Amino acid sequence: MAASLVFRLHDRGPELVREVLLERGWEEYNEGEREEEDWNLYWRGSLFQTSQYHNLLPWQRLNHHPKTVGITRKDCLARNLRRMKATFGSALYDFSPTTFILPNDYTCFLAEYNRLRLARGTSVYWIVKPVDLSRGRGIFIFEDIKDLVYDCSVVIQRYISSSLLISGYKFDLRIYVCVKSFHPLTVYIHQEGLVRFATEKFNLSSLHNLYAHLTNTSINKFGPFYKTEKGRVGRGCKWTMSKFRHFLHSQQINELLLWQRINNIVTLTLLAIATSVPSCPNCVELFGFDILIDAKFKPWLLEVNYSPALTLDCQADISVKKKLVSDVIDMMNYTSTDSLRDRAYRKHRYKQPCFKANHPSEPVLSTLNHQKKKRGNKGSHTQILPLLKTSHQPEKTKRGKLKQRDLEANYQRCLPPFELSKIREARCRIINTSAIKLHTNQTQNPILGQDSRTNESALNRQSRQPLVSYLMNNGSLYRSDVTNHDNSETEAERQRSGETDISSLTPDTQESEEAFTRPAASWKLPNIYSTKPVRITAEKTTGNGQNIPPVKVGDFIRTFPFNRATLKASQHELDIRTVLQEIQSLTGQLVSGKGHKMKSRREEKVTADKDADTDFDSLLWGPKDPPLISQFFKST
Ligand code: ADP
Repeated sequence: MAASLVFRLHDRGPELVREVLLERGWEEYNEGEREEEDWNLYWRGSLFQTSQYHNLLPWQRLNHHPKTVGITRKDCLARNLRRMKATFGSALYDFSPTTFILPNDYTCFLAEYNRLRLARGTSVYWIVKPVDLSRGRGIFIFEDIKDLVYDCSVVIQRYISSSLLISGYKFDLRIYVCVKSFHPLTVYIHQEGLVRFATEKFNLSSLHNLYAHLTNTSINKFGPFYKTEKGRVGRGCKWTMSKFRHFLHSQQINELLLWQRINNIVTLTLLAIATSVPSCPNCVELFGFDILIDAKFKPWLLEVNYSPALTLDCQADISVKKKLVSDVIDMMNYTSTDSLRDRAYRKHRYKQPCFKANHPSEPVLSTLNHQKKKRGNKGSHTQILPLLKTSHQPEKTKRGKLKQRDLEANYQRCLPPFELSKIREARCRIINTSAIKLHTNQTQNPILGQDSRTNESALNRQSRQPLVSYLMNNGSLYRSDVTNHDNSETEAERQRSGETDISSLTPDTQESEEAFTRPAASWKLPNIYSTKPVRITAEKTTGNGQNIPPVKVGDFIRTFPFNRATLKASQHELDIRTVLQEIQSLTGQLVSGKGHKMKSRREEKVTADKDADTDFDSLLWGPKDPPLISQFFKST
């Protein structure tokens, strides 16, 4: 009988993810009944530990990429955007309000404060936000520096006092962005999203009234006017993006250009960390970008949430978030993994998990529980990768009590049988490759630098991917796209999310150190048969063999790469300059509405190729029925 895919939720939430997955026929991971590795998706609101990235198995997915704190913490975001602006100019990086990080930047802030006070006739306002708090906590707005008081690290940001209002109420947009991969950068933005309103009329003479100045739902749902009819806004404090589109139609603006500018903000922000995020193809992450639109319809980035709220507070939430989560699951594309596992079982007659097959009469649960108790319920390790660890890290074998021969026997029982000689051969090859790489690549960690990682861990890290690939190739399994492990984190970082319950931000203290101690019989392959067919999001390939990610997954629209040039620029070393030129060019075409006239000479040169090559096209994200870029510019 086909068994279900298995999901694992940290701290029993979010409930919506559980609901969606159960509806799709998944089963929830139960610690008492399943082995540590017996899951396909682990979803958590907080960070994963380094070891969790290291020990991912080919069929497992996580809902966070490592090291995205560079955009999800307010001070890191400010620093990174400042760096991008300094490197690539402010022509494109002009979407973030001027920000200072206090206490460090106090002198700079003071200089700017005084400059603006002297230079401008009108008042200038500032907003202060603690760097590691969320949901509007600790935020205040001031005009006079005598009101600036802080006792923790804060960002102080130019307050956008001319925000666009609807019936006198301030609002911002919650844009849902799914990063399918950082290497190569592959970004999708959901067509639906939320508009979040303040619940009291905007008024600069009452800076202390948070219900008028902050648009956080966590604040406004407790406001005295939450349930009151508020002009065009209506009751409550949220709209869907669809409703906002209707509103935009009534405005005399270039709607497409607004959407494109928001799209640009997303890409440009992700570019700021794209080269420093380690490659982890098993991860797919949903970000919440908060965008404020000013009275001139210019969008501004307020912050990026790495764990956007998935609670259902109102009808708008229900109509947006359920589909959103479902589309994120589709984005994870379990089909290839299913085939991989399916073949492993069928080809090698592993019709049932090894444990049950080998010991049909044994009391499975009690045995597993017993084993878990024995190892203190700490994270056990896999048989595939720690086996490599052992072979390369003699000192670690102190922990792994099994001898090499036992490990190989163990390994054979757990995986479809491969010839041991091939495994040994593979190990030799891996050791050699790793040694060469270590020799030639002095800086193992582009983010933390040479000293951040021992050679041992670098060796270990580099050794994993090739063996799994080797097994895929030589064991007649599908070559999976989920075998790469290149985690550069050296310690778990705490990230702060705009909507995440702060208590869930503390990473688990369990450290997966007790590898190799488990008897072979206790290990079983996870159940990967899905009772429901999994929707396939097929990738196309260009003439020269580059993969083109699907243009749409559910209501997610691929926004990067958006043309052949950006595809090429992101395939190997990310060529940020080329990407920026392409963004500028596309935006320029939308500004004029006459694409062909705006083409640069370089673009004209490649136009002939583009026209001949119809296998790459993208949709313009944002409008109700997003047009294909090629069609849109042909028709203008
Ligand atoms: P939090 O993580 O606490 O939600 P945000 O940066 O999202 O912090 O700010 C909370 C709210 O404050 C935003 O939703 C927005 O309404 C308002 N806000 C934040 N920064 C600005 C700004 N620079 N100008 C105008 N309003 C802002």
